[in-house]
Amino acid sequence: MGKYGWLDSHAHLSDDTLFDRIDEVLTNCDINHVDRILTICLTFEELGKAFMLQEKDARIDIAMGLFPTDTHLHTEENFKKLEEVAKDPRIVAIGEMGLDYYWEKDPIKKEAQKEVFKRQIEIAKKVNKPVLVHSRDAAKDTYDLLKEMNHYGVMHCYSYSVEYAREIIKLGYTISLAGPVTFKNAKEPKAVAKDVPLDKLLIETDSPYLTPEPHRGEKNEPAYVKHVGEYICELRDMNQEELQQAIHENYNQLFLK
Ligand SMILES: [Zn+2]
Repeated sequence: MGKYGWLDSHAHLSDDTLFDRIDEVLTNCDINHVDRILTICLTFEELGKAFMLQEKDARIDIAMGLFPTDTHLHTEENFKKLEEVAKDPRIVAIGEMGLDYYWEKDPIKKEAQKEVFKRQIEIAKKVNKPVLVHSRDAAKDTYDLLKEMNHYGVMHCYSYSVEYAREIIKLGYTISLAGPVTFKNAKEPKAVAKDVPLDKLLIETDSPYLTPEPHRGEKNEPAYVKHVGEYICELRDMNQEELQQAIHENYNQLFLK
């Protein structure tokens, strides 16, 4: 064993699926050498649960943001609350936030998503914390908006092309790969995994969603991030310790500086 284990840069520990069996979930992290987990909160209720978890387990870091399709949460009151909690030192990133056109085809509502996205980047800029970007079927608008807003952060569960990754890295973003990189037919994430510079790479589970092979079909959990990591080691033909060290350095520089 090297100095570092694995880390999961994006999990939803406050989600009932994981929260209801959290002791087992965290024990599985021990067993599988997962020594850092960034948990993403999408409501203030989830945030309260995450603060509780962090008290019990120092491996847990916290991010908070408003998800693009949770339109009922895009209230003035919530933006105000987010602006307040963004200052809290326990929160290391703002998000996830972004654009999701897979579920949204209405151009007016797409515009509304962009506004919500921009407002949250503004909040992140004020406190100088990175943003966690969710982007689905919205490559061009995401790129244009990130360029315009001129900030930095992570593109989580990256699903676009190698060329796009290169451009988004130039804007100041790190690429985080999730379970799909292990899927047999997922050619693009595999190509991206090989192409991304080592200092711009993170790994994640997005649990309880997107379970990697060989557990596909089951509920996902942070311990399974090792399968994502091991798969990327094979693709890049590098040893585990080297990848573990790189993702920890990238993570520390972004979130724990
Ligand atoms: Zn997520």
